[in-house]
Amino acid sequence: METMKYEVNREIPVTAETDVLVIGGGPGGIGAAVMAARQGVKTMLAERFGCPGGMAVFGEVTPFMPSHVKNRALDRPVYVDWCRRMQAYRSDDVRRKFPFDEEQAGGMICKDEAMLAMEDLLLESGVTPLYHHTLTDVIMKDGWIDAAVFHSKSGLSAIRAKIFIDSTGDGDLAVLAGCPFEFGNADGFCQPMTTCFKLSGVDRSRMPDRAGINELYDKAKAAGEIRCPRENVLWFLTPEEDVIHFNTTRIIKLSGVRGDELSQAEIEGRRQIRQFLSFLKKHVPGFEQARIHSIALHVGIRESRRIRGLVYQTADDFRRAAKFPDGIAKVRYCIDIHNPSGTGTTILDLPPDEWYEIRYGALVPLNSRNLLMGCRAISVDHELHSSSRVMPPVCSVGQAAGMAASLCVKKDCEPAALDGAEVRKHLAEAGAWL
Ligand SMILES: Cc1cc2nc3c(=O)[nH]c(=O)nc-3n(C[C@H](O)[C@H](O)[C@H](O)COP(=O)(O)OP(=O)(O)OC[C@H]3O[C@@H](n4cnc5c(N)ncnc54)[C@H](O)[C@@H]3O)c2cc1C
Repeated sequence: METMKYEVNREIPVTAETDVLVIGGGPGGIGAAVMAARQGVKTMLAERFGCPGGMAVFGEVTPFMPSHVKNRALDRPVYVDWCRRMQAYRSDDVRRKFPFDEEQAGGMICKDEAMLAMEDLLLESGVTPLYHHTLTDVIMKDGWIDAAVFHSKSGLSAIRAKIFIDSTGDGDLAVLAGCPFEFGNADGFCQPMTTCFKLSGVDRSRMPDRAGINELYDKAKAAGEIRCPRENVLWFLTPEEDVIHFNTTRIIKLSGVRGDELSQAEIEGRRQIRQFLSFLKKHVPGFEQARIHSIALHVGIRESRRIRGLVYQTADDFRRAAKFPDGIAKVRYCIDIHNPSGTGTTILDLPPDEWYEIRYGALVPLNSRNLLMGCRAISVDHELHSSSRVMPPVCSVGQAAGMAASLCVKKDCEPAALDGAEVRKHLAEAGAWL
């Protein structure tokens, strides 16, 4: 590729200074920011879009996958608080039908309720949100991140912090700061992307079962009416009687951290949606009067970079249901690999009521002094990532990063100097189930 010299060498305003700066407002970012702020340290959260939510909101990923042991949600306190807070925005009717059960927290959510509830938690805990700020660079000093540089409508600006938390999902901050990372599987491909969408006006009483819909899908594929590598139609019921959620487009072999490929992925996702819409209305009973309810504003990215940390965890920890003295989050979601290069999905479950733990060192990037990972891009292999990436455990990983950041600020130390077992102890005192 041709390159050209482009130098940005000018004074930019330092618009804020804080103890902890969380970059990215997805499930990981909210866990990080809320937990740090609850410990009494000054916390800001910068987000490129105009609201918090990450994939749950702009990716329209609205099923919270269960991560329960003995019917009790593992991810607390922030994740359960988030789910509880969403109830305030539900209609009486939905609340009656699906009463909030703290032990079961999760299931199908509404993205707008999730977004409002997230912002409630941020504001109530004293976090200062800063929307419409995209991280573009870092200013390093002696191996430390001195400031993060953002682009917004007012141009470039810098924010200083003692501890930075990368909650971008993609490890943008860690990569800018020079930390090593892995990408995808052995062939260099990540899990496929998916543009989620919802249809309303569906008559559920006439819908075929899953096998029936898949049979019709196979026929439409054979007839050339749909071109999608996914093996079946993945759909979910929602609290609204006539609305069905689809997580079924599959976009393969494109990178979620390359601008040009992301753009192609958006076009491909919507191309598939047009075909699904036509197929469902034409061939599937109950969908004759269906119409588009919503389409994700951003293609869903399951996997991109995984930042290498002091500890590197593999799927072997899943298979052994491994527990550690420095475990900071319990996970029981399955290994769930959507084929990065075509058809098929690999699922591997843990035995009933078993879980494995994410270790603190998986959140501390190599070659860093004041950085923690508080999102899905932690130091795990491709296989383990397929389990740890879902929203409840990511929120718990984030809250662990937030707790660790607050301890670093109070003790004036680097994340690498913290004892993971101590982070675990503090998390348990703050309400984590550890
Ligand atoms: C199609 C699909 C289906 C899924 N299905 C499920 C499911 O059913 N259940 C489940 O629990 N999980 C599911 N997941 C996984 C889950 O949604 C993600 O793994 C999870 O949202 C990751 O959270 P995160 O906070 O790490 O990242 P994200 O949710 O991606 O949030 C990252 C945030 O950082 C912001 N950001 C990124 N870069 C920058 C930057 N440079 N500057 C400023 N801000 C930035 C983004 O705008 C975003 O708000 C699915 C994911 C996908 C894509």
